[in-house]
Amino acid sequence: MTHPVLTALGLGATESGTFLGNGEWSKTSDAGVLEPINPTTGDVLGKVMASSQADYDTIIERAQAAFKVWRTTPAPRRGEAIRLCADALRTHKDALGSLVALEMGKSKPEGDGEVQEMIDIGEFAVGLSRQLYGLTMHSERPGHRMYEQWHPIGIVGVISAFNFPVAVWSWNAFIAAICGDITIWKPSPKTPLSAIASMKICNEALKAGGFPDIFFLFNDAGSELAQNFVDDKRVGLISFTGSTKVGRTVGERVARRMGRSLLELGGNNAIIVDPTADLKLAIPAIVFGAVGTAGQRCTTTRRLFVHESIYADVLGKLVTAYKQVEGKIGDPIDPKNLMGPLNSRDAVNAYLDAVEKAKAAGGKVETGGAAIEGKGNFVLPTIVTGLTNDAEIVQHETFAPILYVMKYSTLDEAIELQNAVPQGLSSSIFTTNLKAAEAFLGAAGSDCGIANVNIGTSGAEIGGAFGGEKETGGGRESGSDAWRAYMRRQTNTINYSDSLPLAQGIKFDL
Ligand code: NAD
Repeated sequence: MTHPVLTALGLGATESGTFLGNGEWSKTSDAGVLEPINPTTGDVLGKVMASSQADYDTIIERAQAAFKVWRTTPAPRRGEAIRLCADALRTHKDALGSLVALEMGKSKPEGDGEVQEMIDIGEFAVGLSRQLYGLTMHSERPGHRMYEQWHPIGIVGVISAFNFPVAVWSWNAFIAAICGDITIWKPSPKTPLSAIASMKICNEALKAGGFPDIFFLFNDAGSELAQNFVDDKRVGLISFTGSTKVGRTVGERVARRMGRSLLELGGNNAIIVDPTADLKLAIPAIVFGAVGTAGQRCTTTRRLFVHESIYADVLGKLVTAYKQVEGKIGDPIDPKNLMGPLNSRDAVNAYLDAVEKAKAAGGKVETGGAAIEGKGNFVLPTIVTGLTNDAEIVQHETFAPILYVMKYSTLDEAIELQNAVPQGLSSSIFTTNLKAAEAFLGAAGSDCGIANVNIGTSGAEIGGAFGGEKETGGGRESGSDAWRAYMRRQTNTINYSDSLPLAQGIKFDL
């Protein structure tokens, strides 16, 4: 029987995973099948027909044709198209939020929150469609005007991860759309239904508003099509969100063809709790950061540095809070639950493996450390103490709710430890000491793309540029001036004088 959440979104038990443009979904049925699992029960949620090479070729051809029209559509008019998508998402927020929760395994409020992010970035994009500003410069030559303008780059390829199955696409696709680009999406094979539902909602809104198809979708049964996509010179930008392992090869391959890539990869995020911290803020922020989405956010708090003078107190409070969460683990659709399952059996095994490695390295499991028997991929949120920051398992991102708690003596030491990992996504400090906060945010402070004071590492707003340094990949998406990644800059000089002065005063007498 088709799950009611799918029915509410007009999805059947079998869906095409390929939107070809021109209002057409592919009928391909011999290129493999994806079977996304409900991680709460282990049941197959539905069947998604994977795309063929021929489907991919059609998509590229139609996307190129669509770009020729879209690039000259005025940007504010493009904004109107995205306004309609945001409105449609608002109408379907409850149903799509439930599907995200069902297929990915995050809690219902987090699923709804993810759809809200789509709406928010849509509205941001609408405003931005009138603000794609370039600078005007003063020319060194008389009778000359110099300025820069921003043009669309063409086709933007989005490859997304399972843990934010819809928001990441909209961060890219909505901004790319107002920039004049066409987006082709290859979602995670673990969450294709959320992708199909999002595409249907947005495509219907575009159609009703008289707009052409600007969003395309394919699903890959393996990774062959995705690799061709990465290598395809016709795709101007590959925006990749996923693990550092895969992202590294994606970045290398795109660079080889001199394409552009935007990489949003793994994190290993830390919170520092200094002796002046307000623990009424710090404790819930740490628990939400470490346990929320069952530790499956790129910004999940994985390391905690607590000043030695308050270490025992903080650890005791955390263990108590974790025990409360243990009573609220279960079906993510049930609003009383705070924590859902891990997305896959592999993720449960990776969690168990990390716990064993932590113990073998001398770590002590203060709470958690085990999978929950029975149906679904449920595990206990875990706190490990007794390891140093340089322990191999601490240096590594395990995509599960495991928090390594460590002591420190001086702020300099804490900042150094927080920076001493290969990743550089999110970081925060809890302090009421102005000097400590500013030191953490200064040039010698956190080396991450995101650095917060008195809020945790996860739960970024769309208004800021999102992304991280080092092995997190260096990309920036979403707010601020991240739109520039989706456009090409052109510098223009216009001579309105009657002579031809050369730059730098060079003489070239003929
Ligand atoms: P993953 O790397 O396994 O997969 C990501 C995507 O890459 C999927 O769509 C997958 O099908 C595709 N893929 C796999 N092999 C490929 C190949 N050879 N060529 C092209 N594409 C290929 O990641 P995941 O398990 O889905 O997601 C979890 C990871 O994503 C974590 O490391 C997390 O930190 C990271 N993440 C980062 C951010 C960020 O913004 N920095 C956001 C969300 C998730």
